[in-house]
Amino acid sequence: MSNYKTVCGLEVHAELATKTKVFCSCSTSFGAPPNSQVCEVCTGMPGTLPVLNERVLEFAVRTGLALNCKITLNNRFDRKNYFYPDLPKAYQISQLYLPICTGGFVEIEDSVNGGKKRVRIHEIHIEEDAGKLIHNDETGETLINYNRCGVPLLEIVSEPDIATADEASDYVSRLREILRFCGVSDCKMQEGSLRADVNVSVMPADSDVLGTRTEMKNLSSFRAIRASVDAEAKRQISVIESGGRIIQETRRWDEAQGVSVSMRSKEEAQDYRYFPEPDLPPITLSQGYVDEIKAKLPELPKEKKARYMRDFGLSEYDTSIICSSLDFVRLFELTAGLTGSPKDSANWIMGELMRLLNENQLAPEDMGFRRESLAEIINLLNGGKISRDSAKAVFEAVFKDNVDPAEYIRENNLELLSDGTLLRETALGAIGANPKAVSEYLSGKQQALNYLVGQCMRMLKGKASAPEITKLLKELIDE
Ligand code: ADP
Ligand code: MG
Ligand code: ZN
Repeated sequence: MSNYKTVCGLEVHAELATKTKVFCSCSTSFGAPPNSQVCEVCTGMPGTLPVLNERVLEFAVRTGLALNCKITLNNRFDRKNYFYPDLPKAYQISQLYLPICTGGFVEIEDSVNGGKKRVRIHEIHIEEDAGKLIHNDETGETLINYNRCGVPLLEIVSEPDIATADEASDYVSRLREILRFCGVSDCKMQEGSLRADVNVSVMPADSDVLGTRTEMKNLSSFRAIRASVDAEAKRQISVIESGGRIIQETRRWDEAQGVSVSMRSKEEAQDYRYFPEPDLPPITLSQGYVDEIKAKLPELPKEKKARYMRDFGLSEYDTSIICSSLDFVRLFELTAGLTGSPKDSANWIMGELMRLLNENQLAPEDMGFRRESLAEIINLLNGGKISRDSAKAVFEAVFKDNVDPAEYIRENNLELLSDGTLLRETALGAIGANPKAVSEYLSGKQQALNYLVGQCMRMLKGKASAPEITKLLKELIDE
């Protein structure tokens, strides 16, 4: 294997998070009953005309700017003709000759030389999604759901700059983060709103000439993307080593078997008979329009991570976990604001929240609690109103049942004693009853003080703040 280098380029399709489709006003929401979100336009009835959704342009430009691309001002659309049952129009409106964004790059971890490297973006173009075929293996029937027809897509085409499965996966992670931070796509791979075509070739380690590539279409999990790069490189190497030749072809990735299977070669490839889309006028964007979108670009993952580390002193690891999900980012920023303590906020997210998510096998977007609750709990803990153990119990109840923290604390009698006289009397009692511990503490033994704190906590049935008791005992002994 070490005599060869792997080369990989990805074509990523991202469904845009617009409310309506790209050329009609049908809803794009996921999970509606089959064929309930269709109209004459997205099913290509004769005599209908498409009208471009302006939001799609805005999202495409925003994405291009976030990915360091050059924006094409004079745009037009092209018609890609082919017949397939999931495509009732028998053509797809796309952009072949003048993609809306060109150039650009995504920064990833260099898995070969260490440090960072850039994966260049060749282009980004707008196109429309097709419907979905649902095959029933038992009956042999195929059903068609046209809801997805006409959902806007961006196709983001990378240069062949990816060298390993790790880099392919890192590239898709970074890209997904950026798309999410820009609010242009929810990138839910399990719902198909982010899918990748994986192109792979191999070449001798000392060569600069790219080998012949094969393409595996429509991979929709990190696992599949990783596995397909490794397995395909291995397959190609063994073909070459046994004297064979790689042919340029499309292969299907068989997730269950972990192998790719030939589908069609380039010679059999379809001729799409592209021509300029006659039903849509060319679209000219002004530089002012682009500049306006640029001015409103949200803070991107890289800048956000740098700011968290610089301003809040968070570790790179904590920062990267928090920035891995917009739900974490929003919770973190809200909690840090309401508590004035970014550090505590990060610790709770990295500790208790992660534990509960893992234990319940939930994703960040499944968090069902009122987001202010976490800050309320941290403030009660830091204000000495509840113990750390209680704070954890309250948060668990918030996480599971979305309880109101203050109410839950009252109902479960978790509030710590704030009766100064009682605390003082208890501390004095403990000091009086344990002269040996007191003298040990005075001679410098820290454990002796912990023992006294424990005695007080026992007498108060744990309903006191340990730091407060510690402070009180020290004061009283020093007096
Ligand atoms: P097509 O539209 O036929 O799929 P493109 O020229 O658009 O062809 O290339 C598609 C993808 O293939 C790009 O992401 C590109 O980086 C990648 N690619 C091109 N050549 C190679 C190669 N030799 N090895 C691996 N990937 C490649
Ligand atoms: Mg391709
Ligand atoms: Zn429609």
